[in-house]
Amino acid sequence: MNLAVAAKLPVLFLSGLSVVSCDVGGPPEIVVGMDGCASCGMVIPESNQAAAFTIDREHYAFCSSGCLLEEYELRRQAGELPPDDVYFADYESSALIREQEVTFVLTERVSTVMNWGILGFGDPVRAAALRQGDELLVDWLGLRTLRGKVDRTLEVVLTSAGLQPDLLELEKGQLVEWVFRGSDLEVEVRLLLRGYEEMGQIVIPATGEPVTRRMLAVRPGDGFPLVRLDTEEVLGQVRIRGAHTADEVAP
Ligand SMILES: [Zn+2]
Repeated sequence: MNLAVAAKLPVLFLSGLSVVSCDVGGPPEIVVGMDGCASCGMVIPESNQAAAFTIDREHYAFCSSGCLLEEYELRRQAGELPPDDVYFADYESSALIREQEVTFVLTERVSTVMNWGILGFGDPVRAAALRQGDELLVDWLGLRTLRGKVDRTLEVVLTSAGLQPDLLELEKGQLVEWVFRGSDLEVEVRLLLRGYEEMGQIVIPATGEPVTRRMLAVRPGDGFPLVRLDTEEVLGQVRIRGAHTADEVAP
């Protein structure tokens, strides 16, 4: 189908989403001021914050990265396959870029479409140049982890006797919010979940204050160890059920 013609067709509905055009290879053409967002429904106002994904060779356009993520997460939680191709606009050039090549700046300082506070860049150096203060730079996995829909909250307590519970079982694909809390600790304890180093060091204060961390269980395995960093003691194990697939993201 001719893309220019497809973009002017009346809105079609498939699984509740509006299709902007069919896949003829490469990123879709999004017509600002005409195409509607497949999530919130509004007319897409800015080319440099738009996004799109492809399912079964049909393109769906979004006004913003946040709206695309909303639909992506609805599909994930419904157990549907992820979209075939995902694209985000570069904030400076408006070019649509594959998700694995985008660096996102999370900002409350810059005005963004739908106030999601997410801007995409094809060049990580340009993303870093816009970032200020404690604003975060994240990749696609990081964006899904921080802004996706949490499936499960896991509460674990660390005492001088060990971690409770010390075996945690998850399903591959789940987005988990961990809440770590110390009880009767004399000093703060630093933990690391080996195999999921992207969670970073988990510093559990002796004061009992909870610490939260999000984790997207993208890699299955029988025993990811939760290690105490100063002693290398294994305090717990995380088991993630699911089949290994070629798309797994390396730690
Ligand atoms: Zn939208």
